Parts: sequence; structure tokens; C-alpha cells
Amino acid sequence: PEWLTRGEITFVDTSISWNTSETKPLLHSINLRIGAGEKFGLCGRTGSGKSTLALSLLRLNEIVSGQIFIDGQDISLMSRSSIRQRISCLSQEPFFFPGTIRQNADPLSVASSTQIIDALRSVGAWDSIVASHGTTDEELLGSILDEGILSQGQKQLFCLARALLKNSKILILDEPTSSLDHETDAKVQNYIRESFRDCTVIMVAHRIHSLLDFDQVAVLNSGQLVELGHPKDL
Ligand code: ATP
Ligand code: MG
Repeated sequence: PEWLTRGEITFVDTSISWNTSETKPLLHSINLRIGAGEKFGLCGRTGSGKSTLALSLLRLNEIVSGQIFIDGQDISLMSRSSIRQRISCLSQEPFFFPGTIRQNADPLSVASSTQIIDALRSVGAWDSIVASHGTTDEELLGSILDEGILSQGQKQLFCLARALLKNSKILILDEPTSSLDHETDAKVQNYIRESFRDCTVIMVAHRIHSLLDFDQVAVLNSGQLVELGHPKDL
């Protein structure tokens, strides 16, 4: 589908709940504009609604009133599968399919072997896989991924390569580095800044500290957007 080519996001008086029978939505009247290519941070305390807001873009929860537009289109009118095909998402828990390295890196089968290897290499996940599976490039891509031998950091880097290959205009990061050591965290953050320069990136973080070079940061508190602006002004 050719509809998601810019990655501009607008929330208009959007209220969201996790199920329609709930009388009180978790997020109340969110108004927000995230420009194409913007690096947007979301922070706030545990339970404030950060994941709920980020995942609403994938329509994993219910929009009970208001709208969310992506590139000017109301996402409640789009099919969930077409939305999910066009947006990449990394959460705290990296996930894998039972299958080959190729299938795990490129589940939609859109990339060539060279592109897959380049993407894994560019995030620094290739060497760790080569070291553990130890065969030629083509054989390696076709070999079954043994995620048990990858560290948490290597798994996140692998998933980052998957997002890179998917070539989406929007990348959602829901604290993907929260369980990583400082060094790997910094590495992942760098890859995100370099490799996703042209994408709209929405990153959830517990503290504003990790979002200082972002374009815009929103602070949530009990389901309300309480602050919005440049991180240095908050
Ligand atoms: P954390 O920093 O702990 O990740 P958060 O700011 O991301 O917190 P959310 O996960 O958005 O907070 O949670 C906000 C509210 O939504 C909580 O009351 C939580 O119970 C509820 N919630 C979150 N995920 C789901 C879900 N999958 N199904 C039902 N309710 C959920
Ligand atoms: Mg969360």
C-alpha cells in the first residue's frame, strides 16, 4: 500500500481504552502533531499511559473518541494488517519466529540477501550471528535462528535490523533498551539516530534524560498529556 510515505501523525481529541466496555478511557483527549521525520519522545511514570499511546498507532487498543491520522488518513478506516505492515515497532521484549535467520530478519520477504546482511551488519548483529552459526553467508541466512544463543542486546540489535529492512516511515520504540547495559544501550541509540534519520521515530523512555536531543517530548501523567515541547524547555 502506498499510503504511508511521509510518516506524519496527528491525534485529534483522541481518547483510548484497552477495551470498549470500559467506561473511563485510559487516555483522555490527546491532541498532538508529530511531523514527518520528527524524533518524538514520550515519557512519564509507570502506568501513565506511554505504551497505550504508542501502541494506539498500531490499533492494538480502542480509539473510543476522536481520531488518529497518519499522513492525513484516519487510521480507524484502515485495516489493521495494512497499518502493521507499514509501521515498525520494537518493545522491551524482542520477539522471533521459529524459522531461519532470513525469515526473522525479513518476514515480509522484501529484501535481497545482500540487503539483509548489510542491515544485520550495520546494527552490529551480523558478527555475533556468524560467530555462533559459523557457515557461509547464504547458508547462514537459511539456517534456523537459535535465539537462545543471542544475548538480550544482540536480540534487540537483530530486531532493529528487521525494522531497518521493513523500510517503514514510522518506528515505534517502547523502551527497547531498558534491560540493556549502558554500552549496548548507547549503541542501539546511535543506530537509531543514524539509520532511521528519515523516519518518524516515537520513543518511550522513563526519563527525559534519554530524550534530550529529540525534537519534541510529551510527558504523560495518569492518562493526560501534561507537558509538550522541546526537551530543553521542559
Ligand atoms: P510503564 O512505564 O510501566 O511501561 P506505561 O506508561 O507504558 O507504563 P501503560 O502500559 O500504557 O503505561 O498502562 C496504562 C494503563 O493501561 C495501565 O492501567 C495498564 O493496566 C493498562 N494496560 C496497559 N496495557 C494493557 C493491555 N495490554 N491490556 C489491558 N490494559 C492494559
Ligand atoms: Mg509501557
